Amino acid sequence: MVNTDLIPKYWYNIVPDLPKPLPPPRDPPDAEFSRIELLKKILPKEVLRQQFTIERFIKIPEEVRDRYAAIGRPTPLIRAKRLEEYLGTPAKIYFKYEGATPTGSHKINTAIPQAYFAYKEGVEHVVTETGAGQWGTAVALAASMYNMESTIFMVKVSYEQKPMRKTIMELYGGNVYPSPTDLTEFGRKVLKENPNHPGSLGIAMSEAIEYALTYGYRYLVGSVLDVVLLHQSVIGMEAIAQLEELGEEPDVLIGCVGGGSNFGGFVYPFIGAKKGKKYIAVGAAEVPKFSTGKYEYDFPDSAGLLPLVKMITLGKDYVPPSIYAGGLRYHGVAPSLSLLVREKIIEWREYGEEDIFEAAQLVMKTQGIVPAPETSHALRAVIDEALEAKKKNEKKVIVVNFSGHGLLDLGNYESIRKRIGSKK
Ligand SMILES: *Cc1c(COP(=O)(O)O)cnc(C)c1O
Repeated sequence: MVNTDLIPKYWYNIVPDLPKPLPPPRDPPDAEFSRIELLKKILPKEVLRQQFTIERFIKIPEEVRDRYAAIGRPTPLIRAKRLEEYLGTPAKIYFKYEGATPTGSHKINTAIPQAYFAYKEGVEHVVTETGAGQWGTAVALAASMYNMESTIFMVKVSYEQKPMRKTIMELYGGNVYPSPTDLTEFGRKVLKENPNHPGSLGIAMSEAIEYALTYGYRYLVGSVLDVVLLHQSVIGMEAIAQLEELGEEPDVLIGCVGGGSNFGGFVYPFIGAKKGKKYIAVGAAEVPKFSTGKYEYDFPDSAGLLPLVKMITLGKDYVPPSIYAGGLRYHGVAPSLSLLVREKIIEWREYGEEDIFEAAQLVMKTQGIVPAPETSHALRAVIDEALEAKKKNEKKVIVVNFSGHGLLDLGNYESIRKRIGSKK
């Protein structure tokens, strides 16, 4: 039995501790409708309140802690001893293993409270969109935990290419539709223009929001918004307590960045507690937002239905190449994380597919865990830091947020293996 006392009682909100005020979300000038008003209609009220709160600590409802325990929180903090030995590094490496949750990634950490707050309002049905399926899977499970229905608009190409994801969502009780669908006006319009449209995240999201509005359901958000990073802070709060139990002082904290939720959720509590000397956010070289993105107001979604936020962005219309780390193809970086990167409190790295595949293989061979392609980006940085510590003979403690396992990504690994060859 794991010690569920280690599940935090509070989420940590970094907003009041930022070195500069966070530029607020806003409506575009001369907009034909207010995105902020739309947000108020589709989000559960408590989620909306938490999105805009400046309180530092927010109590996690007992009913949510209870569900966190039910998915196996606290997740394990694993010393990657075999990896250290293989690298010959004096550094200690720890994995905070979010792959241990039933849905295989951190996304369930925010799906549970969002579903809970919807349920508390008497809502019986929640709606969202999903690309590769990680987020949709988390929503389907969280909804079923509170006996609610869920409807998930899944981008049609993914629906066809990743049928196993659809199967899990349906086994959890979710209604999954390949988007564009004929269930919404927006979907019907897209299908009229092109009956074979492959779909996109923006279209799926537009459909999910329209569907929620039409039937009075609530819409759940997967990443980027402050409230999602807030819920994900359960990862970092737990890791701090686990490291304290071990008597370890962390030096380097590392995570991968899609929208920024697993990274922020893991690293922010350390920043707030003034723990750690170096924080490294890792993106994909194929989606070079840290190196080439602009820091400006942009839409967080390609459909342009959410309020503008100030962030590092490649532009909402940016079309990412089809890399396997689907979760890192997102065009922007969460506003608070963008600010901390701009203020140089957080460093960044970008790695290409070949580099991360090598890191993934090394972790598989030494530790046995198949990492998600997204997580493998962070692992590449872990290995580089550990090798640097070897060069300088430094005994530092490196902790990485292992955002998810890759057992449903084996098809992707097989394709990469064929393309770049298996490195022995
Ligand atoms: C979705 C996902 C990510 C990226 O999303 P963030 O919001 O940046 O955390 C990273 N890793 C895994 C395993 C994911 O499923």
